[in-house]
Amino acid sequence: MGMKNENQMTDLKELNAIVSDIITADCHDTQLKAGQRLLAYTVRKDIDRELAELAENIAMLMIQKEGRDLHLEFMDKNLQKTSNQLHQAKHDPLTGLPNRGLFHETLDAVFEKAQRKGGKLALLLLDLDKFKPVNDTHGHDAGDELLSQVGERIKSETGDAGISARLGGDEFVVLLPDLKEEEEAFTTARKILLSLKKPFDLTSATVFINSSIGISFLEKTTKGPRSLLKQADLAMYEAKKAGRGRYVVHTEKK
Ligand code: GH3
Ligand code: MG
Repeated sequence: MGMKNENQMTDLKELNAIVSDIITADCHDTQLKAGQRLLAYTVRKDIDRELAELAENIAMLMIQKEGRDLHLEFMDKNLQKTSNQLHQAKHDPLTGLPNRGLFHETLDAVFEKAQRKGGKLALLLLDLDKFKPVNDTHGHDAGDELLSQVGERIKSETGDAGISARLGGDEFVVLLPDLKEEEEAFTTARKILLSLKKPFDLTSATVFINSSIGISFLEKTTKGPRSLLKQADLAMYEAKKAGRGRYVVHTEKK
């Protein structure tokens, strides 16, 4: 009886040592080796049944934990993938700017907030002048390169004060919420017009381009976000008609 107890104590101490090796393992390899010692322990014929069962249960716990870790890692990858897909679905691949869909979502939210709080809101709609000839002369890839650089310049001129997006083709928008003065919108428009007038160094050539901007402001009479966009579009068309390379503000009389 005394002999058996002594053996049990030794076996228990050994199991304890294995388990603490598993817990304190500083790398996967050490943990794997300790795990193998645990498995070898469970199949030993000379140890007490209860100790063998305890070892077996600990091994089972380890398997559960590994399964959970793997599951978490898998979930994390899936989340990352979903968030990437979500980003791709809402951004223009060429410029990295928000696309038309995301812009409309943002416009709806910003419009609603400005109306509720009585804030000033301006929408700038920009279309490049005579962009087709750039494609025709220098090729579609050069056109893409130009659009991408245009996106960067608009974004940088707008800064944190506004939200820029590419609606499609050579059409861009800038939304300016929280305006103090309408004048701020004109300043932004002038800054963008000037910035886009500067030469663009493309891989195959250096090109110059002008642009036309239509501006609309949230007024008491503005029906909704779509109508704000429509008004900026009408004003942009006026800018084209008036000779391009300028900005025009929408007014009700037109
Ligand atoms: P306007 O001065 O009246 O604006 O004339 P425009 O030549 O700029 O032509 P418009 O704005 O009517 O049309 C834009 C053109 O941009 C149409 C198409 O050939 C070209 N385009 C549209 N999307 C892309 C694109 O993703 N990449 C390139 N390279 N060209 C595009
Ligand atoms: Mg154009």
